[in-house]
Amino acid sequence: MERPRRLRSPLLRPLVAEVELSPKHLILPLFVKEGGEMEEVSSMPGVFRHPLSGLPRVAEEALKAGLGGVILFGVLPQEAKDPMGKGAYAEDGVVQRAIRLLKQEFPELLVVADTCLCEYTDHGHCGVVKEGPLGFYVDNDATLDLLARTALSQAQAGADVVAPSAMMDGQVKAIREALDRGGFAHVPILSYAVKYASAFYGPFREAAQSAPGFGDRSGYQMDPRAGLWDALREAALDDLEGADMLMVKPALPYLDVLSALKGRFAKPLFAYQVSGEYAMLKAAVLKGWLDERRAVLESLFALRRAGAQGILTYYALEAARWLKEA
Ligand SMILES: [Zn+2]
Repeated sequence: MERPRRLRSPLLRPLVAEVELSPKHLILPLFVKEGGEMEEVSSMPGVFRHPLSGLPRVAEEALKAGLGGVILFGVLPQEAKDPMGKGAYAEDGVVQRAIRLLKQEFPELLVVADTCLCEYTDHGHCGVVKEGPLGFYVDNDATLDLLARTALSQAQAGADVVAPSAMMDGQVKAIREALDRGGFAHVPILSYAVKYASAFYGPFREAAQSAPGFGDRSGYQMDPRAGLWDALREAALDDLEGADMLMVKPALPYLDVLSALKGRFAKPLFAYQVSGEYAMLKAAVLKGWLDERRAVLESLFALRRAGAQGILTYYALEAARWLKEA
C-alpha cells in the first residue's frame, strides 16, 4: 500500500521538505517621515511610521536579523503634497534623505526605494492627473518622465535598487534609460510588474496617507478578474524593458499568478505580502483566533512554494526571529 505517512517521521520530514525560508529572503517595508514621533499605523498594529532619526535603530535590527533588505516609502503631510508629486523626486525628499542616512551608516544593508508618486501627490494618484471627456484620468506618458526623475534621484542618493510601482506602461524602460544616462547603469530595477487593483492595499494607504482623493486605481492597476494573459503580458513587457527582478502584488490571493510566472522568465520573482494581508493575520491573532507564528510562517512558506525568491513583508523582523528560534 502507498503510505505517504512514511515520509512524515521527524527524521524524514526535514529531508523531503523542499521549501526553505530564511531571513535573507525577506525585505522589510519601512514608512519614513521627516520628523516628529514614531507613530503606530492603526490598521496595522506593530507597524510604525518612523521619523528619519528613528531609522538607524530599525536598520540595525534588520541587519542583525539577517534580512535581505529594506524598502522605503515616504510619508508626507498633506500640505507638503502637490499635483505633480514633487516630493518624490526632490533632492532633499524624505526618501532621498533616508537613503543617504542609511547608506552612510549601514553600507552593508540593501536599501530598495519604492518609485512612485502617490505618496507625494495631493490627489493620491500614482501619476499626473488630467481631465478628459469621461472625467479625470492619469496621463501615462506625462508620468513617465516624473517616475524616471524619481528613480534617478533615488539612485543619486545611493539606493541599491529602485522599485517602480506606478503601473504606467513603459515605466521600466523610461527608468532604465534615465539611470543609464545618469551614470547608474549598475542599479537594478525590481519591477512591480504584476500589480492588481486590490482592496488589500487599504491599510497601506492609511500608513502612507496616500488614498486617492477621487476615483480609484483600476484605470492603471490590473483587474483581479483578468485572465493569466494579463499577468503574462505585464511581466513580459517589464522583462523586455529591462527589469532585473519581477514582482507580484498582492501575494497570497495571487499564488496562481506567482506559480504561473515561475520559470517563464530568466529573472528572480518576488511577492509582496501587502498591508491587508498583514492586517488580516494580525487582527485574527489579536482576537486570539490564530497562532501568529505558525500562521505567518505558513503564509510565507506558501509564497516560497509558489515561486517567490524574495518576499516583501511587514512581518520580516518577527519571521526572522521565529526562523532563528526554530
Ligand atoms: Zn503609487
